[in-house]
Amino acid sequence: MAGFPQAQAVPAHRDNQGGARSPLDITHIVIHTGEGTEEAISSWFGNPASKVSAHYTVTRDGRVLQHVDDLTVAWHAGPSYNRQTIGIEHEGLAADPNTWTPELIEASTSLFAWLSKEYALAPPPQVLLEHSEIDPLTRLDPGPYFPRGPYLALAGAKMAGVPPKTGAPSTAGLWLAVLAGVAVLFGMTR
Ligand SMILES: [Zn+2]
Repeated sequence: MAGFPQAQAVPAHRDNQGGARSPLDITHIVIHTGEGTEEAISSWFGNPASKVSAHYTVTRDGRVLQHVDDLTVAWHAGPSYNRQTIGIEHEGLAADPNTWTPELIEASTSLFAWLSKEYALAPPPQVLLEHSEIDPLTRLDPGPYFPRGPYLALAGAKMAGVPPKTGAPSTAGLWLAVLAGVAVLFGMTR
C-alpha cells in the first residue's frame, strides 16, 4: 500500500473507495475530525453501507492508521475534491477542545509533512483544507478548536528539516518545536 511508512493498515471496505490516480493528481490535504473513537471510525469505513472512507486516521495517543492507498481515491470530501486530495481523519469531536492532544498533533503533522514531501506539494498553508471550508453548509469539522496556525508551523518546520524532538510528547515540547520552526522561517537563528 502506497502511503506513510509508520502507518498501521486498517483497510476500508472496497465498496467505500475507488478510482486509481497518479501521484501528480494529489494537490491538497483535507483535515477532518471523525466524530467518534478510533474504533467507530474504522468500523464505519469497514462497513460497505457507509460509502465513506479517508486515507488516514490519527488517534488521540498519536498512532496513524491507513485505510486507503494514497493512489486510490478515498470518499471523504465529496466528488469535486476526492480525486485531488488526501483525507486525514482525527479521532475525536469537532466540538471538543480536548480532541487536539499533543500526541495527535505530533503524529498528524509528521504525516502531513511526509505527504507534502512525498507528493511534492506546495507549502502547508496552500495545501491544507478544513472539511468545513469545502462544504460549509453541512460540515463543521475539524471545528473551532483545530489549532491551524501551530499545526501549519509545526508541519512546515518538519518539512524544513527541524529535527523531531525526542522523548515523550508534551505541550511544552510542541510549542518549542513550533517556535523553532517559526525561528527558522524568519531567519532568527544564528
Ligand atoms: Zn469531515
